[in-house]
Amino acid sequence: MNKIELEKIKQNALNEHIPIIMDDTLNEIDLILKNKKVNRFLEIGTAVGYSAICFTKYLEENGVIDTIERDSLRVKQALENIKLAEVEDKIHIFEGDAVEILPTLNEKYDVVFIDAAKGKYPFFLHEATRLIKEDGIILADNVLYKGYVMSDYNKHKQRTAVTHLREYLKEVKENPKFDTQILDVGDGLAVSKIKNI
Ligand code: SAH
Ligand code: MG
Repeated sequence: MNKIELEKIKQNALNEHIPIIMDDTLNEIDLILKNKKVNRFLEIGTAVGYSAICFTKYLEENGVIDTIERDSLRVKQALENIKLAEVEDKIHIFEGDAVEILPTLNEKYDVVFIDAAKGKYPFFLHEATRLIKEDGIILADNVLYKGYVMSDYNKHKQRTAVTHLREYLKEVKENPKFDTQILDVGDGLAVSKIKNI
């Protein structure tokens, strides 16, 4: 990965107000994945490719990131950025709605990173559970959503998103397959490790 280009990609994304992963969330993911062998990584929500480019450093030789984005302009920007960062051979973009694309996937993944429409998080979890390896990790970004999720605030116009994020957290916490931690970094990161049961 080309680090100078990565910094430019990050600054351009921030200037365009694209909701890229926050630094403290990335630092936390560094700690979580530093000893993990990652061959297949699935991301839901590419935007301009910033997080996917960052995640390439976790890949084993010949490892690949599959990432899904429905906005064609962002796909175009992501392809340009991936080229600038010189990681074209490590990232594959699926263009389209993840709700339609996920059910067509049959690969098993070491890590799934959920970072797209909050109202779809329960569905993304359902698909991630199907696609994750037995020792895999499911990460979900923005699960605390500016504090709304853990507060009793219900009148916000984003109430549907909040309801679905609460449902996501309830499901990962109650499912005996997962060992889940909700981290108060960035906009909230849920880390669900698959348990050997
Ligand atoms: N992971 C990126 C940021 C993603 S922002 C990073 O940290 O750099 C969320 C992206 O998800 C947006 O670009 C949006 O277009 C996309 N998205 C939202 N819902 C989606 C869906 N249902 N299918 C595919 N992409 C979706
Ligand atoms: Mg995010």
